[in-house]
Amino acid sequence: MLPPSPQEPLPPLRLSAPPLSGRIEAAVTLSTVARLVASGAAVSKADLVPAAGLARTTVSTAVDELLDRGLLHVDGTRPTAGRGRPADRLALSPRGGHVLLADVGASSAHLAVVDLSQRVLARTHVAVDVRDGPDAVLRAVETELAQLRESALPLLRGGAPTGRAAGVPVRAVVIGLPGPVDGTRGVPVRPPIMPGWHAYPVAARLSRTFGCPAVLENDVNLRALGEARALPADQTPLLFVKVGTGIGGGLVGREGVLHHGADGAAGDIGHVRVRGAPDDACVCGNVGCIEAVASAGAIARRLGEPGPPVPIDEVRTLLARGDPAAVAAVREAAGLIGELVATLVHFYNPARVTIGGGLSAASDELLAGVRSVAYQRALPLATRNLVLTNSVLGEYAGLAGATVLGIERVLSTESIGLLLARSD
Ligand SMILES: [Zn+2]
Repeated sequence: MLPPSPQEPLPPLRLSAPPLSGRIEAAVTLSTVARLVASGAAVSKADLVPAAGLARTTVSTAVDELLDRGLLHVDGTRPTAGRGRPADRLALSPRGGHVLLADVGASSAHLAVVDLSQRVLARTHVAVDVRDGPDAVLRAVETELAQLRESALPLLRGGAPTGRAAGVPVRAVVIGLPGPVDGTRGVPVRPPIMPGWHAYPVAARLSRTFGCPAVLENDVNLRALGEARALPADQTPLLFVKVGTGIGGGLVGREGVLHHGADGAAGDIGHVRVRGAPDDACVCGNVGCIEAVASAGAIARRLGEPGPPVPIDEVRTLLARGDPAAVAAVREAAGLIGELVATLVHFYNPARVTIGGGLSAASDELLAGVRSVAYQRALPLATRNLVLTNSVLGEYAGLAGATVLGIERVLSTESIGLLLARSD
């Protein structure tokens, strides 16, 4: 196509709009102030004025309202410059509400209750099988979460001078599932290992059960987010590659926010094919997918040949013992994953690539193999400052990511708007 001549002007181009409009709505102001306090960017009324770009009286009214509603509390004082009296230091109140978390994997789930100050009040790990279908799994998750919350109440009472602990509301529920999800509609989308879950209204059901907003996210995205927010901000963009029964990826952008793509499928890297991969059949119907040739499941199949696959737990045991066949299989898998990581590094230029999942925890062979291939294949500009390492949070990365999503949901304009509407 020829470039337009001066007589044919360019088509109109879209210039980007700011994320927040200039609306001075109560919920927008309250959310802005609450999030500035939550992030630690501004923790006193005086600091909030320039940080929020709002008038002193507007900030003061918003802070008083948030204190009144119990979302913020005064947590000591902070010294002020000069000889002024120390200012009240604001923080999210531990009594401002509970957030319920469920990080559901293929065969087990990590569950937790946290408060708005990120304190973990109760936590458990239970066996669930996603193949049992959404009703059975979600019923178990709901029951366990309700019990966990009960078990957290005595702890709250002990630390609560007013004795109103039982009145602490559930403000949000976050659930992660091991398959593609449409977070906007709160439903799984054709998850290959989860029969009966396609389009099931997971978020709507949990929202109804607990009477609060519910967020559905992919389990690897949760890990990626947890990992990114546990590290300094210069460690994003962060690419998380989970090597477990399957293989999945999650990407957190430079601003610390998950990249979902158009339909929520971004990071679903398990069904990519890499150079040199054998033609093994995959659950998706294709052959040679990275998940079919390099996951813990694939290694379990290889080690069991010509019989049935060895159990995944046994793969980990064999690796920990340094079994030669297991180590050789992991090295081969690591080479293939390294090829994939090199491609992704070129595309995203991440500051950090984190390798997580059961296989990386069991042996350093995986990380070593991925590193050697990825650094060799990718060009220096993309790897000059790249950190390629194992997960820092391990199996709790998912709960960490769910904590972030849950608290940020509670502080969103939408949720604070609901809070105002409900009690006015
Ligand atoms: Zn596949």
